Amino acid sequence: MTARRKLLHLYETFLIDCDGVLWHGDLPISGASRAIKTLQAYKKQLIFVSNNCGKTVDQIQWKLKTLLNINDIPKKNIITSGVSTAIYLKSKMKVDSEKVFLIAQDAFKETLSDHGIQSFGVGPVAMRDSHDWTNFELDKSVKYVIASHDPHFSYTKLTEAYLYLQENNAEFIAPDCDNLFSVSGSRRVPGSLSVQAALSAVLEKEPKIMGKPDPFLFELIQREHGKLSPDTTVMIGDNYKTDIKFGFNCGISTALVLTGNSKPEHISSFERKPDFVLDGLGDICDNDLENL
Ligand SMILES: [Mg+2]
Repeated sequence: MTARRKLLHLYETFLIDCDGVLWHGDLPISGASRAIKTLQAYKKQLIFVSNNCGKTVDQIQWKLKTLLNINDIPKKNIITSGVSTAIYLKSKMKVDSEKVFLIAQDAFKETLSDHGIQSFGVGPVAMRDSHDWTNFELDKSVKYVIASHDPHFSYTKLTEAYLYLQENNAEFIAPDCDNLFSVSGSRRVPGSLSVQAALSAVLEKEPKIMGKPDPFLFELIQREHGKLSPDTTVMIGDNYKTDIKFGFNCGISTALVLTGNSKPEHISSFERKPDFVLDGLGDICDNDLENL
């Protein structure tokens, strides 16, 4: 039986990563739209699971519509590491009086705000020198520091985050630990891990990870959609260290696609192999469905 037939035959629920599987930035990946439509034609349950906290659920839903012409994915079938972080924070912080220092992009601030969580730190900041730090007054309400991909990341942000973690004893949180992300089929650039590593190096402490590969996201998916049978659920992603390990951690099957982060030359070094390796999501297209 071919990988395509096996996937369609064995599984009812498909957890699908987005970046590097469906698109690179704003460019759709060939075959992805047709593959999703094939899965829909076979009445499969589709849940999109992204470690990209730089996009809101609305923005991912919009990309599915505009880039892939997939119009009928409800918001509850899209979950991001930004959402899981917000849910985690909301379960433990005093939202009226506590704040988050946020190293991230605008969309993450929006996701937190949608959950009633106050944060600051997004966007460019003026450089501060040693004298400025001597007199810098910490906001005592900051109890959490989140470190993720931020195009404005700087020594000034690093120092401010460090001070909140050290002097306020704030909790160190990361929505994802992706080392690299794909901006095209061949080019990858540093991801959230590069920002966290700078903080971890001075703190000698690792952040709590809220996205894949931590199974917390799977717990949230099951809270929303009911218990998923591990035997009929498969995680499809382009990153071995996050997507495939997430599948391993959740006890579900895994399919690695080679259109993004993990490359064919990496496969031999994997200590445990994914159940399937596909050239791309398009491998599961149904060629009989001519008009999809
Ligand atoms: Mg990906």
